[in-house]
Formats: sequence, C-alpha cells, structure tokens
Amino acid sequence: MIEKGQILEAVVTDYTSDGRGIAKIDGQAVFLPNAIAGERVRLRIEHVGKTWAAGKLTEILESSPHRVNRACPLAKLCGGCVFQHMDYAEECRLKAERVRQALNRLAGESLESVPLTAARDWQGYRNKAQYQLTGRPGHAQAGFFRAGTHQVVPCARCLLLPEEMDRVKDLVLAHMNRYQIPPYDETAHTGLVRHIFVRKGAVSGQILVCLVVNGHGLPKKEALIASLKTVPGFRSLVLSVNEKPGNTILGEEFWTLWGPGYIEDALCGLTFRLSARSFYQVNHDQAQRLYQAALDLTELTNRDTALDLYCGVGTITLVLARQAGKVLGVEVIPQAVEDARENAARNGVQNVEFLCRDAGAAAQSLLEQGLRPDAIVVDPPRKGLSGEAVQAIAQLAPPRLTYISCDPATLARDVALLKTHGYRLAAARAFDLFPRCAHVETVVSLIKPEVLKPCLASGAGSILG
Ligand code: SAH
Repeated sequence: MIEKGQILEAVVTDYTSDGRGIAKIDGQAVFLPNAIAGERVRLRIEHVGKTWAAGKLTEILESSPHRVNRACPLAKLCGGCVFQHMDYAEECRLKAERVRQALNRLAGESLESVPLTAARDWQGYRNKAQYQLTGRPGHAQAGFFRAGTHQVVPCARCLLLPEEMDRVKDLVLAHMNRYQIPPYDETAHTGLVRHIFVRKGAVSGQILVCLVVNGHGLPKKEALIASLKTVPGFRSLVLSVNEKPGNTILGEEFWTLWGPGYIEDALCGLTFRLSARSFYQVNHDQAQRLYQAALDLTELTNRDTALDLYCGVGTITLVLARQAGKVLGVEVIPQAVEDARENAARNGVQNVEFLCRDAGAAAQSLLEQGLRPDAIVVDPPRKGLSGEAVQAIAQLAPPRLTYISCDPATLARDVALLKTHGYRLAAARAFDLFPRCAHVETVVSLIKPEVLKPCLASGAGSILG
C-alpha cells in the first residue's frame, strides 16, 4: 500500500492529459509533475486517492535525453506551461500519442499512429492573454494561476506572449497603482479590476485591451487610454462588467471606452473582426493549418451545402464557403454571430448564413425543416457535443462529418457514439496549437459509407427556407 510521505523509486512510463508523468507503483498510478517518460526517479508521495496517487520528484536518478533547461524561470510555479522541462520533440510525441490512445481506448479504433503537425515557433505564439490580478491597492500585480490553485504567480514576462501584451499589462498595473485602483480579491469579492484581457491580431498587429471589472467604471480612464496609446497597434479599450463570484472571466456587459471595440485580423486570406467576447484560436499559424486540414477532409464541391456547428466568428464557415455551394454557421453567442455576419459581408462572401442558437437545437430544427446537408463540420468547446447534437447530426446523416476538437477524450466519446449511427473514422490528425501547454487539437473525418449523396440540399435561396 502506498502511503503519504513515502519516498519511493519508480520509472515514468506515460503522461496524464494535463501533462504530468505517470509511474506505476504496486499497480497504482502515481502522477508526477515535471517528469519525462523513460526517467527513473525518486519521489515523495504527496496524496493518495482511491485509484491513483500524486507525488513529487525529489531526485532524477536516470534523466531522459529529452530533458532540457526551462526557458522560463517561473515554469515550475506557473500553471501555464507544463512542458518547459522537455524538448519539443517529446512534447509532440506525447500529444500525438494522447490522441491515438483516446481514439483507441474510447472509440474502439486500432490506430497505430496519429500524425501531428508541430508548431514552427513556441515563443510569442499566443494572440490572447488573460492575466489574473492580485495584491492590494497601490501594489497590484498580474500573472497566472499556479497549477490546480487560485494562487496568482506574478509574471513580468511570459514567453508565450508577444512583448506588447506584457507592455499593456505593465501600463495597466502602473495606472492601477498610481490611482490606488484595487485589484479584485476573489475570496472577499471586493476590489475592482479582475483580469486584464489582451488580444493581438497576428497579422494586423492590432491590439484590443479589455479590463474585466467588478463594478461599472474605471477611474481616470483618459489617463490609461493616453498611456496605452504608446503601445504600437493599440486600437481599443473595452470594459467588461463581471460582478459575479466564480471562475468565468468575461462578464455579459461590455462598454467600449475608446476605439471601435474590436480589432481586425487576417486568417486564411480572409479578414476578421474580433470582439473581446468572440472565440478566436490563440495560435494563428497553426489555426490556418488546422482549418486547411478541415477543409481538405470535408471535400466540398460547389454543389454542396454544409453546416458549420459552433462557428464562432465564422472563421471555418468562410473558409468552407470558398468550396461549398452554401454554408450555414450556428453559434450561441450573439456577439460572435454579429461578428460572423460582419465578417461575411466584409469579405464579400454571400453563400453563408448564420444562426444564433444552441447547436443541438438548431440541428434539430433544421432536420425538421427537411435540410439534408452534404457535410457537417463541428468544432465544439471542450465538453464536446451534447446528446441532442449527436442525435440531430445522426439524423441529418451527412455523408461527411468533420470534427475539430480541443479535447481528445470528449472527441473519442463522441466518435464512439457517432459510430453507433453508422459513421466510420476515415482520418485523424493532431495539431499542436499550444506549444509548452497541455492542450492538443485534433481534426477527424467521419464518413457514412452507405448514404447516397442527397439531392435535396443544394437548391438556390436561403438554406433556412
Ligand atoms: N469554429 C470557431 C469557434 C470554435 S470555439 C473557430 O474555429 O474559430 C467553439 C464555439 O462554440 C465558441 O464560439 C462558443 O461560443 C460556441 N458554443 C459553445 N456552446 C455552444 C452551443 N451549445 N451551441 C452553439 N455554439 C456554442
């Protein structure tokens, strides 16, 4: 029996989905942060659960050839990067392996490998930053949560972010400290500024700053605007009101204090308007490769009607619209749908329509209206498809279904369900959109071999009838 406080030796054999190493001791899995597969280590047991235990490395007895010095001095404390202690080749290997194992174990596949497209750069790739605030009035600090806690690790320079984002963060902190603006304290639910949110267009260089506040205004906003104007690319300052306790970052209410309230960026040869509230992939170059793969796998012709569920600001919808006859995008957030419509207009794309609804409910009512799309693309949040969405998609029965996912486990669960409705996994490809961090993106192609290509879908006019 493993007990807390024990010092043991073990060999690391695998990784958890959040990037910790796994060692098996007496048949029990022990999770070890900062460990690399193949290493023989000495560890201390910190916690014993029913089916697993958590430990801490005390010594590396046989080091992996993939072990490297961490580029960031905060990497061990900060919960952002989890792979700074290994080379990028090992990170890519374990991410591809994670996707393969999920599809094999949870979706009954027997894939020997899943190809992964590695990122070209791991530094400065993020086009969005969300800083957490801590400290007291006059001494506000900003950083990121320590892994598994709500303890903020102040961070002066984050290597995953472009430098201008840290400059914005420093200017906001200087403003807060100069005017004694209190940072939010989540335990007491007091203080004003909760988060500094920064978005930068990778191609345009435009910067949107959004301060999330537990209140309805910002003291001395003119002074902050003046200092932010010294940052090249600064386009707009927005306040997001979030007075609710809890983990949700952005509030429901947005006030534009300066500029248009959005930025623009170019992606896949199209230009996009992006508000603070709208989802936009954080790694621009890798998102382009991912979307290209989704387009290739969907194999659209100009006679096809496609459905893009969970479409956000219409990025994938507009990419698909280049090849398809018509594409209908569905998204639940009204601001994102507004952006999506605006994005179609500004790119002169006319063969798209957007629907602001829950994806499952929309798919169900399209089914009732008699729509039979030639292809469906889904790109849901981490929790995957709802039961209703799976049912409706299965009944819409498109011959081709492309599923983009940021969580291999929910993807594999949904693939297993879709297989019970006659779909077959035709291709799976992983993409690293989050170098140094635990997440991995996957696109899979599912096909329904026995469905004849329906002829109902591609008529002229509105797909909404
Ligand atoms: N395809 C887009 C966005 C993907 S992120 C892109 O690649 O840019 C997932 C999107 O699903 C988000 O925009 C989110 O707001 C939206 N969403 C979340 N739950 C939803 C639901 N139940 N129905 C429809 N859209 C949903």
